[in-house]
Amino acid sequence: MDLFPAAASVCGVGAADWRLRMSLNRAFIFLGPPGAGKGTQAKRVAQQWGLPHLSTGDMLREAVSQGSALGKIAKPIMERGELVPDDLVLKMVEERLDRKDAANGFIFDGFPRTIPQAEELDAILEGRGFGKPVVVDFVVAPDILVRRLSGRWTCSVGGEIYNVHDAPPKVPGVCDRDGGKLVQRPDDRPEVVMERLEAYERQTKPLTDFYRKLGALEQVDASLPMVDVTGALANIRQRAQGRDGRL
Ligand SMILES: [Zn+2]
Repeated sequence: MDLFPAAASVCGVGAADWRLRMSLNRAFIFLGPPGAGKGTQAKRVAQQWGLPHLSTGDMLREAVSQGSALGKIAKPIMERGELVPDDLVLKMVEERLDRKDAANGFIFDGFPRTIPQAEELDAILEGRGFGKPVVVDFVVAPDILVRRLSGRWTCSVGGEIYNVHDAPPKVPGVCDRDGGKLVQRPDDRPEVVMERLEAYERQTKPLTDFYRKLGALEQVDASLPMVDVTGALANIRQRAQGRDGRL
């Protein structure tokens, strides 16, 4: 049970102190295949726990739109559709972690992706006095992921997302809200979905091994309903804080 969100909303200063102590120096890293719902969960718990949700994709887009020094370097690379190099991403992460709102912890979603990134991130965290990160692996059986991803259709007008299995539109192929035509992203076609999942598995296996050896890896069953996954994440967080004697 996560006592924290309710308690924090009850009163002002005392709760804020408690909240600070509870969340002290904690880096969370969410790993998971496409369709595992880790982005959604990261947003939910970031709000509940009062920690910033950091996605390197969002950070890059922000840097580009603000025209920062890093953004100016990243822009042509992204426009060519190439991957932004590790050193640039890490520089951006470092700058982001220096902002005040990240001082007591944060949630990384989709970063790191490679062992070199993970090693560098470790050094960055240590240099800033952060403890060992809590790394959560979102585990979902492949057949469930295929069902989630290949059932996904997007409105070509408003961007609403439907799932023909779990959340179908009232009229097949038509958006409930604006009558827009529903289209399937090329990425979500069943034959492509399997390839995406296999590629993810290949790329991420070394990373989960890396964090398992560090003793930092936790797993959640991401095939459960959303509210149960959120609850499991709260338990992981509480356990981690208990281990540190930070409760
Ligand atoms: Zn629509």
